[in-house]
Amino acid sequence: MAKLTSNDYMKKEGQYGAHNYHPLPVVLEKGEGIFMWDVEGKRYFDFLSAYSAVNQGHCHPKIVGALIEQSKKLTLTSRAFYNNCLGEYEEYVTKYFGYDKVLPMNTGAEGDETALKLCRKWAYVKKGITENKAKIIVCEGNFHGRTITIISMSTDPDSYGGFGPFTPGFVKIPYNDVKALEKELTDPNVAGFLVEPIQGEAGVYVPEDGYIRAAYDLCKKHNVLFIADEVQSGLARTGRLLACDHEDVRPDILILGKALSGGVYPISAVLADDEIMLCIKPGEHGSTFGGNPVAAKVGIAALEVIKEEKLAENAEKMGIIFRSEMKKLEDEFEMVEMVRGKGLLNAVVIKPTKGKSAWDVCLAMKENGLLAKPTHEHIIRFAPPLVINEDQLYEAIGIIKKTIAQMS
Ligand code: PLP
Repeated sequence: MAKLTSNDYMKKEGQYGAHNYHPLPVVLEKGEGIFMWDVEGKRYFDFLSAYSAVNQGHCHPKIVGALIEQSKKLTLTSRAFYNNCLGEYEEYVTKYFGYDKVLPMNTGAEGDETALKLCRKWAYVKKGITENKAKIIVCEGNFHGRTITIISMSTDPDSYGGFGPFTPGFVKIPYNDVKALEKELTDPNVAGFLVEPIQGEAGVYVPEDGYIRAAYDLCKKHNVLFIADEVQSGLARTGRLLACDHEDVRPDILILGKALSGGVYPISAVLADDEIMLCIKPGEHGSTFGGNPVAAKVGIAALEVIKEEKLAENAEKMGIIFRSEMKKLEDEFEMVEMVRGKGLLNAVVIKPTKGKSAWDVCLAMKENGLLAKPTHEHIIRFAPPLVINEDQLYEAIGIIKKTIAQMS
């Protein structure tokens, strides 16, 4: 049988798969480190990292090794029984981040849902809010996933439109607005403030220096839980282990996902101290796959790689180079409106020029050997695996420059 082409694969997905994504037209079959290859054998720099899940690089041998080894022994017991891997992982992850306890889940959205439930339960059990009255403050432009409750917090019509009725109990305030937060916190029924330290999906919005610290301090003043969604910004992506570390903030509830497995397995986690975590009792929350033996082994390996390979330090260093080179393009080409970001979570805002949009720029970069994806209409996120070295980064920057020059 003749080998299938990229077009054949895309046609098949279009015919048999739901149309809930609009992928760039490239069909990938192999990944290693910062590179991916398509089915025709063409190599690409990956500047998306599966939305920051592949911080450790594609198919990291240590992480894949942990997956293979454990999956030959025992994959799933459910939490109806104990297994000999989970406790080791729980000890490792809690000591790594400095919390009393962890609640293991699978996807980022589940991590957020878990944090919301935990916060509400704490509000009734500890804070003394009347049952069913707890409110959680969230930010405009947020992205926390796709479940009904999570889209109930969204201000993006693409996320929530046509999916109502919505879950009540959320108060939406502008992002990066301390005054707005202060005002809402005076309501005694407020239990928590859920925030992304950098808004990734919204277009890599970096709040002003001091925002996270000020928000945290205000939450403390009002006995409100500060909940950080670090699913995208965490795990070395922004040049620190957590984006909250930039302002020395330790969230009351920390949500992690994506790179917690280096992209080889869906693993998420919610961390908190006993005062909060023990509010949830047996039978009140869980997941068949959460905390399974494979996830436990993969999670430890993925976290070890972040420390062993000094990924936060590298992200910080490479990020500085990336933004300074992109700033030069800002001066040189009308099409490049601005660059922003922290570490290796960056975005370039594209001004449509000669009828060409951010999507067209991504298509042209693909032709030139680099993969990135627009988020919203005019923003391109650039987030390579954190294992990228300086030579590779300059080569990739060369591709971006060449593409912008071709289109200007
Ligand atoms: N939270 C944030 C900040 C995210 O960026 C995402 C995904 O992009 C999620 C939650 C949802 O994660 P998942 O797609 O694994 O459910």
